[in-house]
Amino acid sequence: MSGLEELYKEIIIDHYRSPRNKGELPPPATRTEGFNPLCGDEIVIYIDVDSNGVLSDIKIGGQGCSISQSSASMMSAAVKGKTVAEAQEIIGGFKAMMSVHGDALGDPASEATAEPEVDLGDLEALKGVVKFPVRIKCATLSWNTLTQAIDEATA
Ligand code: ZN
Repeated sequence: MSGLEELYKEIIIDHYRSPRNKGELPPPATRTEGFNPLCGDEIVIYIDVDSNGVLSDIKIGGQGCSISQSSASMMSAAVKGKTVAEAQEIIGGFKAMMSVHGDALGDPASEATAEPEVDLGDLEALKGVVKFPVRIKCATLSWNTLTQAIDEATA
């Protein structure tokens, strides 16, 4: 295992053991749930979007594997305090990272060449997940659930 892979693994374990923004928000916060039947992961997301279109607060509940829970924790830290537009950019960047690599399945050599356009910080720790297609749904679960939450909050 390379030094970078070690670092990525540590970031994932850290977010799994000490999840950021864990909890609930009272109404009128928007509440959405996501479920990944392939792995049994559950995610509950609460968001507040203020009158300026800022994702002023986010809380995460649920349970599941380390990939699903650490991805949700990293996501919450990445989008909290951002505008909805900025959050959607981060969501797009993360999904691109997961799908660009997903499209390269069976061709490991092309994996290292694709770089996300958005600076994803710690989220890049999840890049290695694309080598395990069954885990991609674990990593993207919270992101799809957040997209749904934003749609509902801004409808
Ligand atoms: Zn999972």
